[in-house]
Amino acid sequence: MSQRSDRSDQSDVLSLDSGLEALRQSSEFRGPVESLEGHGHSNDHFALVYESEAEQFAAAIPFLRQGLERGEKCMYVVEEEDRDEVLAAMRERGIDVDARLESGALALESVENTYLKGGSFSIDEMTDRYADIIEEATAEYEAFRLVAETGWIVEDDVTIEEFMEYESKVNDVFDGEDAIALCLYDRRHFPAEGICDVVRVHPHLIHDNTVCHNFYYTPPEEFCGPAKPDHEVDRMLGTLQERTEAKTELSDQKRFLQRLNEVTSDPDKSFEAKLQALFELGCEQFDLDLGALNRVDPDADHLEVEHVSGDHDYFQPGVELELSETYCQAAADIEEAASVSDPTEEEFDEITVYEDYGVEAYLGTYVPVEGEADRTLAFVTSRPRTEPFSEQERTSLELMGQWVKYELEHQQYQRELEQTVAKLKQSNDRLKQFAYAASHDLQEPLRMVSSYLQLLENRYADDLDEQAQEYIDFAVDGANRMRAMVGDLLSFSRVERADNEFGPVDCDAVLERVLADHQMQIEERNAEISVGSLPTVSADGEQLEQLFANLVSNAVKYNENAPPRVEIDAEERPDCWEFTVADNGIGIDPDRADQIFEVFKRLHHDEQYPGTGIGLSLCQEIVENHDGDIWVDSEPGNGSTFHVTLAKRAAD
Ligand code: ADP
Repeated sequence: MSQRSDRSDQSDVLSLDSGLEALRQSSEFRGPVESLEGHGHSNDHFALVYESEAEQFAAAIPFLRQGLERGEKCMYVVEEEDRDEVLAAMRERGIDVDARLESGALALESVENTYLKGGSFSIDEMTDRYADIIEEATAEYEAFRLVAETGWIVEDDVTIEEFMEYESKVNDVFDGEDAIALCLYDRRHFPAEGICDVVRVHPHLIHDNTVCHNFYYTPPEEFCGPAKPDHEVDRMLGTLQERTEAKTELSDQKRFLQRLNEVTSDPDKSFEAKLQALFELGCEQFDLDLGALNRVDPDADHLEVEHVSGDHDYFQPGVELELSETYCQAAADIEEAASVSDPTEEEFDEITVYEDYGVEAYLGTYVPVEGEADRTLAFVTSRPRTEPFSEQERTSLELMGQWVKYELEHQQYQRELEQTVAKLKQSNDRLKQFAYAASHDLQEPLRMVSSYLQLLENRYADDLDEQAQEYIDFAVDGANRMRAMVGDLLSFSRVERADNEFGPVDCDAVLERVLADHQMQIEERNAEISVGSLPTVSADGEQLEQLFANLVSNAVKYNENAPPRVEIDAEERPDCWEFTVADNGIGIDPDRADQIFEVFKRLHHDEQYPGTGIGLSLCQEIVENHDGDIWVDSEPGNGSTFHVTLAKRAAD
């Protein structure tokens, strides 16, 4: 059937892979950890070549800790003089050494008691010993994990050849068992030729915080056998070729990514145009002839061609097919990239697109789209293909699919946003209409209440006792407050966005009028008002006057200082003008600073500071009409600074 990448999770099988996983996840161990995927020499035994203690522990301890966490028996073979240091390093890196030693899960064995037991090193004895240790450990624990120092080899006159022979034998012992080993080679102690051999006999090496596939690996039977030089030449040539291929593949991939980026990030192109460019890039990259984006519904066995590159007899936008009659079924089955390079072999020879349309090869990926029909992005050809598609080609296609997914979801989101904005605007308009109608219609009965109260007071004042008089005063007061609120609500509902009313407004002149209108309030409080140099902006002049009137009047009203001071200023920003109205008044609790812009929201009682709670809502409405923003910086007791931005228009 169709090909797909092998992504099976091997983390539960104890092997070199899981050892590598420990290093990958460890924060101490930095650097690339090459995956072993596709590497032929499976071996549960690897070497760390290091030049400092830090390097040694950065690899060895996480490796061991992972074993302990997985319930394995862990053994560290240590030179006697290093024991304390190793223990300290384990503790430092979070291993509960004492508990682990006591339970037996962790063992620190000396070199004397292992490799040199009986006084000297014997290959066979040691191999047998490890076989026993593994058997005993795996009877009780999940697996056996070994970290072993090797410095004793140099000190105890064991030849490297001898040790390498042992290494290849011990490989056999570990092979097929639930056991892995990490040998530690301190480069500072070994002669260079020795390290050279170490490198040759270990398929995987850790050096300088990097886990590497070992190009120089020589299987033990070759290492010790007579044809060593021949094999070495084979390997060298093979490595050269492999490296060159890897380099070419990398630079191909890099070029592809650059082009993909160019195609998808062009701000001047529409989605359709980008898609066509993407089809072109895919056809070239995969050596195929046609690209298509299809809407698919696997449950309904349905596919509809949505976009295609170029003209084609069969594949045209709008063409509908059963999904199972297309190769896209393969991509839909696995919900990722799938390929077909030999339809007969892969049992696709009875589907419509093969039999009737003559499609010979296919590379396609499934594109799940949130909130919309899923898609497949596919490339096909009617030329028979000799080579299967590579993992790299599938990855490239998946990248393209991800971009398509992102674009489609973004478009969908954009559409939803536009609908929401339209709905909001509608309901906002309706609310405003309601507020207008209500406040307008309330005026008349309110006027009646006020005037009859007035009449009552004037005509019957002498007949009323003190309490009745007091009641009438309350009623008059209430009616007056209500009139103020209804009046303010009416002005609020009248703030319209009328772009045609926008024209050059001289803000200096606006402020002059505002100050003149508030002359009485200002003189009563002896307020000092300073106005900086203000610009001429494109705006609705009447609305700006309302805006500044509210801000200036609040700045004087919510102020217990003598004299109240108010500073009005403006600064030019790239896209807008920013005005500030700063006072030395009572200030606002920052936690409630957002509330004050809500309709009827007041932070004070009427007796303390009279008002209706609409002024700042009106300001916000006006500012929004001018594509601007309003906010306040304040601290209770330390005055408030209101900021207002007004977007610049072409005329500014
Ligand atoms: P009103 O002044 O009619 O109450 P506003 O909408 O203008 O209505 O203001 C809402 C609330 O914000 C006020 O009740 C007051 O608590 C607070 N406020 C407004 N401006 C200031 C200011 N400059 N300093 C302190 N508090 C203010």
